[in-house]
Amino acid sequence: MASFRDLLAQAKSQITEVDTQTAEQRLGTGAVFLDVREPDEYDQGAIPAALHIPRGHLESQIESRLPDRHAEVVVYCAGGTRSAFAAQTLAQLGYDNVVSMAGGFGRWKDQGRPWSTPKVLSAEQRNRYQRHLLLPEVGEAGQLKLLESKVLLLGAGGLGSPAALYLAAAGVGTLGIIDMDVVDASNLQRQILHNVDRVGERKVDSAKKTLTALNPDVNVVTYDVRLGADNILDIIDGYDLIVDGTDNFPTRYLVNDASLLKRIPVVYGAIFRFEGQVSVFAPYEGPCYRCLLPEPPPAELAPSCAEAGVLGVLPGIVGSLQAMEAIKLLLGLGDPLIGRLMAYDALEQSFRTFKVRRDPACPACGADAGPIVIAEYDELCMPHPKQPPS
Ligand SMILES: [Zn+2]
Repeated sequence: MASFRDLLAQAKSQITEVDTQTAEQRLGTGAVFLDVREPDEYDQGAIPAALHIPRGHLESQIESRLPDRHAEVVVYCAGGTRSAFAAQTLAQLGYDNVVSMAGGFGRWKDQGRPWSTPKVLSAEQRNRYQRHLLLPEVGEAGQLKLLESKVLLLGAGGLGSPAALYLAAAGVGTLGIIDMDVVDASNLQRQILHNVDRVGERKVDSAKKTLTALNPDVNVVTYDVRLGADNILDIIDGYDLIVDGTDNFPTRYLVNDASLLKRIPVVYGAIFRFEGQVSVFAPYEGPCYRCLLPEPPPAELAPSCAEAGVLGVLPGIVGSLQAMEAIKLLLGLGDPLIGRLMAYDALEQSFRTFKVRRDPACPACGADAGPIVIAEYDELCMPHPKQPPS
């Protein structure tokens, strides 16, 4: 029967050890640093950009997380023992360019070599976002990215409600919500952020209560103001993207122009009776709202939601599609609806997608467009600058 000493001696005889100085040189030449310590050790400090797989999960995870068996790997633990066994195991699995760092992270740190405290999810967050973490396309890095993201929702109404609920549940760290209305009983047929007890309350306050109760990780920033030419640039500044749930043309044109100026993508959603539309306007990358609709339709052809009626589930579907596009954009996943308009027909139960091209003559984003003027618009969407041009 072999003792621990025998096993360690045997492992060390089968692997290559390097000192910390050699290891640091390899850090500069692109070697993969593999940290095999336990999560609580790793959380307190690690070599930057190290791949972390605790020794106990090494055999089961290494092939998916480091598929290249010829990659140059420097394994380390706290003192150099676990990494020796790990290097031996990696050789048995066919990894042919592996060394173990003698002295481990303890010596590395004592010698003043570079290390940092990795950004990690708390145990509670790991549990909350477990189903995201299981998706390799999201994982811990993606979840951390969502938690650091800032999304501004225009409106806490029909579209804003489902979008905000799903974005909050997904762990988007900062949600801005702008709405100047109060909760009305006639809203509750579709505005599921609110409820009967909150009738008469400011919509942004009601939204904040619902979202914070759903996910305390989310910082909800409220703007109980009318979005206008005087405040839009200040409000949207610093957000990664805008989810547009507004219901009138003047605001849409205002949002379009301001988002072009600030280069913030807009996830557009619109609803009318039984039909909905979703698209993504990525400034100067794809078409903008004015490329799609250079002028608003005549008022009689475009009644607002209040005048035309809407089936309550419809904004739920369209707002959820907006939330999905928002998360895709934040994580760089899949093909966002840039340059495409998706139309949903609830009665047919059908989706159709149309190509939308950038208009070279677009008055806002076209090559010959003049400087963008942020102005108030009337129902005909003619700009009325706050101060007449001199
Ligand atoms: Zn345009």
